[in-house]
Amino acid sequence: MAVAANLPARAQGNGRGSAHAAASAIGPGHAAASAIGPGLAAASAIGPGLAAAAAETGEFPAALRVVHDGNTIDLAAAQRAAADFLRALGMDTRTESLRDTPRRMAGAYAELLRPSPFNLTTFPNDEGYDELVLARAIPVHSVCEHHLLPFIGVAHVGYLPGARILGLSKLARVVGHFARRPQVQERLTKQIADWLTEQLQPTGVGVVIQAEHTCMTLRGVQAAGSTTVTSTMLGTLRADGRSRAEFFTLAGLS
Ligand code: ZN
Repeated sequence: MAVAANLPARAQGNGRGSAHAAASAIGPGHAAASAIGPGLAAASAIGPGLAAAAAETGEFPAALRVVHDGNTIDLAAAQRAAADFLRALGMDTRTESLRDTPRRMAGAYAELLRPSPFNLTTFPNDEGYDELVLARAIPVHSVCEHHLLPFIGVAHVGYLPGARILGLSKLARVVGHFARRPQVQERLTKQIADWLTEQLQPTGVGVVIQAEHTCMTLRGVQAAGSTTVTSTMLGTLRADGRSRAEFFTLAGLS
């Protein structure tokens, strides 16, 4: 995962938030930024709506384009391997029904394992809002890296704002970004929390994921209906029992 900064010229002179966004682009994001090209990246990050809003307020949000620089997917090789795999499992891939299955399998896994890039827009917290911001029951679709079977559930993601706030839909984007890759639920939970901490420098972050793992419910112990719950609490949400309790209450978990 890499973060590429797309800071328009005016946003760069824009105080604390911009400084933070720029800082986050140092290091792993550099390769991605140069690959996209700064001009193109800036254009794609600041859509017409945001540009209009910025023109009205004279305040540009800071935007980051989040891209994944990990695995490249060779669809043709995956398709060949899927055909071998199915044959090894005793399936006849010459039948009309199965003929196209290796291609569909490769495509399906490619889709499940490849995060789509997204633009993360953060705004200065000018109002000084310091209460919990929480998105409940964000759908989670991921693939367990031990069995390559799906796990499906919901994430509750919240933070106590510091200098920057985030467009609300972006919490779901962050979840999707880290879910679309071979995962274990514990790591997914922590990656989301760590990433929000890094990008927003909030005073607290909480992430709870509840998911059903098909490797556990469809096979093995076949514990149908069981869910696995993981949580990461950072900052005030970790240190302060009352804040943590509020998070769990608002998330509908207590
Ligand atoms: Zn598994």
